[in-house]
Amino acid sequence: MSKHRHPTVLFRPGHAARLRHGHPWAYSNELVIDAAAKALPPGGVVRLADAGGEALGRAFFNPHSLIAARWLDGDAEAAVDAAFLGQRLAAALALRERLFADPHYRLVHAEGDGLPGLIVDRFGDVLVCQPNGAGIDRLMPEVIDALDALLAPRAVVIRADAPVRRLEGLAQSVGVARGAIDGPIAVIEDGARFLADPIGGQKTGWYFDQRDNRAFLARLAKGARVLDAYAYSAGFALRLALAGAVEAVAVDRSDAALDLGARAAAGLGIAERCRFVRAEAFADLARRADAGERFDIVIADPPSFAKSRREIKPALRGYRKLARLAAAVVAAKGFLFIASCSHNVSLADFTEAARRGIGDAGRRGRTLRVAGAGPDHPRHLALPETDYLKALVLQLD
Ligand code: SAH
Repeated sequence: MSKHRHPTVLFRPGHAARLRHGHPWAYSNELVIDAAAKALPPGGVVRLADAGGEALGRAFFNPHSLIAARWLDGDAEAAVDAAFLGQRLAAALALRERLFADPHYRLVHAEGDGLPGLIVDRFGDVLVCQPNGAGIDRLMPEVIDALDALLAPRAVVIRADAPVRRLEGLAQSVGVARGAIDGPIAVIEDGARFLADPIGGQKTGWYFDQRDNRAFLARLAKGARVLDAYAYSAGFALRLALAGAVEAVAVDRSDAALDLGARAAAGLGIAERCRFVRAEAFADLARRADAGERFDIVIADPPSFAKSRREIKPALRGYRKLARLAAAVVAAKGFLFIASCSHNVSLADFTEAARRGIGDAGRRGRTLRVAGAGPDHPRHLALPETDYLKALVLQLD
């Protein structure tokens, strides 16, 4: 019998330096994946050691994934159980409670909160979890117990349907693990009440990452005409209408998402200033430009254009085209918000694509703000992947 609590997985010689220096992942080609390692259960906890056998800590291990080990901490002999998860969740909660008055936020942002592969969004007493790695997937019963002990939620939804699960060999499912929910639920953002559908909606049901960007644009909204392209449930459009926009048009290809936006607008008493249009965004922008329509604020927040590194070049062409089409409908001295949530696309490349697109439209302008996701999406220092969202606000002449 080994004297260690967890089975040991070794680095190949010369490959441990990056992890020693703070990077939390080890790739499969950096580890000794022999028959014994291959036989370990996907997502089990291992003792990671360097080629000489010196312990580096404990990690989730998946012999079938390119990201083979996800480091937890330097304590190679400690158990990974509900108590451990409870401590990490409590630390994540303490940070959010400092940041936000209302209990609506991203509670856990995976590696950024020391919980590899786990996303938890909090909508008051409803929690929506995305287990995106084999290690956290195995531990979901303990995660749910720990969430129960910490927050006593009314319902816990498990959205095990993110495409990235396939890279870990995990199946797709959506379910309610605790309690029950019957349809859309409230999201409170900076004091206003919106609607999200944690079961049928996209991702967890709400894009908390854009909260601060919505708040920034709200400062520009008084008296403005707003076009919100790729609106989802119109988070931007509704917040700008609340902040005094005279008209807010939300465009998306999802009827279900727009429908929630329309219901939220009615609840907020701003329905007469909001419009919801189901359309393909490029086509809609081009049609409006041809018709001579202009808006004081244009928001372009598309889905990821680069799901893999191979798609970076076409994605940059897509962002350039989007910037051109969106810039064409911005009024003189109006504002353009354009975002990319592709972690494969760098801020520098995205900014350059936006600059070219704006130039293609014959427009000039200035950058007011360069931002990312809000602070409930903490970025792991060593993982650019957790820094996925890039957002520019420009004023165009
Ligand atoms: N701005 C939103 C989030 C947008 S997510 C918010 O703040 O909540 C991206 C949205 O783009 C999704 O709602 C999706 O339905 C929509 N979408 C994807 N492709 C589209 C297309 N070609 N035309 C219009 N909408 C599209």
